[in-house]
Amino acid sequence: MSNSVLIIDDSVTVREQIIRTLESFSLFSRYYEAEDGLEGFKKLLSSPVDIILCDLEMPRIDGFKFLSMLKARPDLQDMPVIILTGMNDRDRKIKGLGQGASDYITKPFDPEELVARVKIHLKIKKLQDDLKRTNELLLELSNTDHLTGLFNRRYMMEALDKEVHRSIRKGGTLAMIMLDIDHFKRVNDTYGHLQGDVVLQKVAQQLQKELRSYDCAARYGGEEFVAILPDSSLKEAVFVADRIRLAVQGAKFNGELDKLTLTVSLGVAVFSKDSAPTVDAFIKYADDALYRAKEKGRNRVEFYDPDGTRILQTSQAKPAE
Ligand code: GH3
Ligand code: MG
Ligand code: MG
Ligand code: MG
Repeated sequence: MSNSVLIIDDSVTVREQIIRTLESFSLFSRYYEAEDGLEGFKKLLSSPVDIILCDLEMPRIDGFKFLSMLKARPDLQDMPVIILTGMNDRDRKIKGLGQGASDYITKPFDPEELVARVKIHLKIKKLQDDLKRTNELLLELSNTDHLTGLFNRRYMMEALDKEVHRSIRKGGTLAMIMLDIDHFKRVNDTYGHLQGDVVLQKVAQQLQKELRSYDCAARYGGEEFVAILPDSSLKEAVFVADRIRLAVQGAKFNGELDKLTLTVSLGVAVFSKDSAPTVDAFIKYADDALYRAKEKGRNRVEFYDPDGTRILQTSQAKPAE
């Protein structure tokens, strides 16, 4: 059992009685003590615990003030607190529960009742923690493409929407790269679908490797990928796209795929209020550029050119076989 408990009470005797009782049931491996709410709160910040037993009447910071300090902290507010009250403290019990205490124990306490209540609240806490972890995992799964580990299309669309609005508000540039594997059908036809999946994973890795931590890489569809690059100009994004192209072209495969040379085509667009006024238009421009890269022979980068001046040199790669 690796649980820890914090006991806050101004009476040393009460603290000792509680610790002795809990120790005799081996419920905890660590015991922390404090003689008022402030000391208790400080201890909690340095060593988070699983449950708190807290007296109500104490000098300086009493149990009620301690509860409000705890509930004001999002990271601590779910921590179970059992308040310790006098026998005839009906109103204060109700007030304490109203302020977020999980339960109360009447002093002088019955050892078995104390242990029974502590066990219940530890169990509830564990269930809550498990549920929180499951929810976090579900959220991660619902945002992730299971094959490549990149974000999925749904998440990408949400992220794109947010970035577009941020760009409108703050005026920064925002770039998008759309990538499609060249002749991927041939890979599946030659090596089989499972090896095709290995190739998709490899492309995802190469894509992620060339991006910054705050860029967002997603699998957009079967063998199509999208990268969102906040605060990137067209020129920078084209440069990154060409690096991705070269990384994929240079990627080495193992086993059955060791003879494979893979290439990708990429389309780049930048968002601006004037040239790509909506998310849909932004995606369409990247898609059009990608289409042009395919048409011009594949294994190349094309970009959406907002003012029609071809200021950038796209890569003149050798078309894929
Ligand atoms: P292009 O250069 O014009 O893009 O040609 P392509 O062969 O890459 O394009 P096409 O759209 O004809 O074929 C895409 C293929 O991608 C067809 C489909 O079976 C395959 N594909 C889509 N999703 C998956 C997947 O999850 N795993 C595997 N192995 N293949 C997939
Ligand atoms: Mg007291
Ligand atoms: Mg495709
Ligand atoms: Mg393709």
